[in-house]
Amino acid sequence: MKYIGVKFKTVFLSDKVPKDQRLEELKYWCSQFHKYNLAPPYEGGSAGNLSFRISENQNEFIITGSKIGLKDNLTYDKFVTVRKCDFDIHRVFVEGKKEPSSESFLHSSIYINRQDINVIMHGHSSEILANAKRLRITETKREDSYGTMGLVESVEKILSDLNFFILKNHGFV
Ligand SMILES: [Zn+2]
Repeated sequence: MKYIGVKFKTVFLSDKVPKDQRLEELKYWCSQFHKYNLAPPYEGGSAGNLSFRISENQNEFIITGSKIGLKDNLTYDKFVTVRKCDFDIHRVFVEGKKEPSSESFLHSSIYINRQDINVIMHGHSSEILANAKRLRITETKREDSYGTMGLVESVEKILSDLNFFILKNHGFV
C-alpha cells in the first residue's frame, strides 16, 4: 500500500503541543511497536499510529503525528491533539505542530462508537495477517485504502465489542 499522505484537510486551531503526562505511556508503546516491527519504517516515518482518549465521555484524543518515526525517543511535538473530526467535510480540527495521523478518522470513529475504549493502537504485521484465519481473528470484509471513509465504515460493521481485529490485507487494530 503506497503512502501518499493524509487524505483529509487539517485545520489547526492552535499550535499548542500536547502536554499530557500519559504521553509517556504512549511513547513507551510507540517504542514497543518499533521494537517488535509492528510499525515498519517507510521513507519519512513509521507505518503505525497510536492514540488515547483525553477524558471520559468525550471523543477528543491525542494521536501520533503523520510521518513520524516511532523509533525516536519522541518529543511531545510529534503528537497532536484532535478536537474534532468532521466526517462530512473531511476536516480534522487539531492543536499541535504536525498533521495528525492519516488514520485519525478511524480512531475518532472507534472512540465515538465505543465509549469503553480509551486507547487505540494500529500497526502492520505480515505475520499477523498471514495467521489471521488460523487464529480466528475477525477481519473487515473488504480491503479499503488507508485513511478513507470506506475503511471507517468497514470497521464500524465488524467492531461490535471486539478489542482486536484486522483490516483486511492491511494491518491490525
Ligand atoms: Zn495502516
